[in-house]
Amino acid sequence: MPTSKKIAESITRASWIRKMFEEGARLKREYGAENVFDFSLGNPNVEPVDELKQAIIQAASDRTPGVHGYMPNAGYPDVRAAVAQKIREDEGIAVTERMIVMTCGAGGALNAVLKTILNPGDEVVIPRPYFVEYGFYVDNHGGQAVTVPSLTDFSLDLAAIDAAISPKTAAVLINSPNNPTGRVYPEQQIRDLGQLLERKSQEHGRAIVLISDEPYRAIAYDNVAVPSILKSYRNSITVTSFSKDLSIPGERLGYIAVSPDMEDLDATIEGLVLSNRILGYVNAPALMQRAVKNCLRSVVDVSIYKRRRDRLYAALTDFGYECEKPEGAFYLFPKSPLPNDVEFVGVLQKKLILTVPGTGFGGPGYFRIAYCVSDSTIEGSLRGFKEAIDEVKK
Ligand code: PLP
Repeated sequence: MPTSKKIAESITRASWIRKMFEEGARLKREYGAENVFDFSLGNPNVEPVDELKQAIIQAASDRTPGVHGYMPNAGYPDVRAAVAQKIREDEGIAVTERMIVMTCGAGGALNAVLKTILNPGDEVVIPRPYFVEYGFYVDNHGGQAVTVPSLTDFSLDLAAIDAAISPKTAAVLINSPNNPTGRVYPEQQIRDLGQLLERKSQEHGRAIVLISDEPYRAIAYDNVAVPSILKSYRNSITVTSFSKDLSIPGERLGYIAVSPDMEDLDATIEGLVLSNRILGYVNAPALMQRAVKNCLRSVVDVSIYKRRRDRLYAALTDFGYECEKPEGAFYLFPKSPLPNDVEFVGVLQKKLILTVPGTGFGGPGYFRIAYCVSDSTIEGSLRGFKEAIDEVKK
């Protein structure tokens, strides 16, 4: 089938994760899956809580006529009301059902938001390293991603964001807890970012939207607080999903929450609902909406991820790797012991350890370890991690 030039080019750009995936499959065939230590994908391996499994069974058993039919494109009103109530309780902000749009995961939510707000050629400022799909999502809707560096501890470089904002800037897109760094942006920075965007919006005569991608909000360690974005800036939108906190990425459920103080609130909401529809999602999965409604306070056992983070972080830093301690999500983003991260990922591959070069996230000189894997994968990999750094440091 003929492939468009754009998609052919995107396939090349998307090749890092794909490459690791293909390499992993080859290594597993050759050496046996149990001998390959695959840290390449952010696919949660902690099982969903029983309460959710029960809720899915219950929702699936519902024989009420029409229960599998279309619904309002924004999602079931009672589910949206329950989500809004949770945000009000957690963040102390007057979000109502009207400001919630249920989506096909955070990915679907981001696409609906970007479709709603971008004019052709508009720019979206994104701190790097970043979740690699952002570039594609912005491009899907005729926008231009403008990436800016982060500080060395991976927190926001507000001066860099300030300098990158132009009259074409429609939005700033942040992600906390962050994939791939695990950083949670501190409250003061979020407040300062809000003030910066207020000033820049006035300067350029347009409301710059702050989009906060938060699928890892519930996966934070050592009581670190994940600050409320909706509270910090009036033109803000959060997107999230249940992919990571409930371990159901295959079920494709998430939502958008719009600040009650958003400029042109009604038009924004109408735009989001229309975008959700005409992107072809139509509405978020019905069964999962009904199931998750009763589990909004549930979270997978985060102590399992914390144990894995602690074990891997302690071992790697002991071996001599330099690494910021992640505060959330389930990724480590150590410095590559070789200047070329792609080359070092190749050294690890020879030890049958699969990671992703930071280059794939706009963060060259680092590599990403997704530790949402079994304890035995972590234990089995440690010798290889040690040998790899010892070899290149010789
Ligand atoms: N945003 C970030 C930062 C992610 O890491 C991911 C998935 O890994 C997504 C969005 C997409 O998640 P979802 O499954 O909710 O579409």
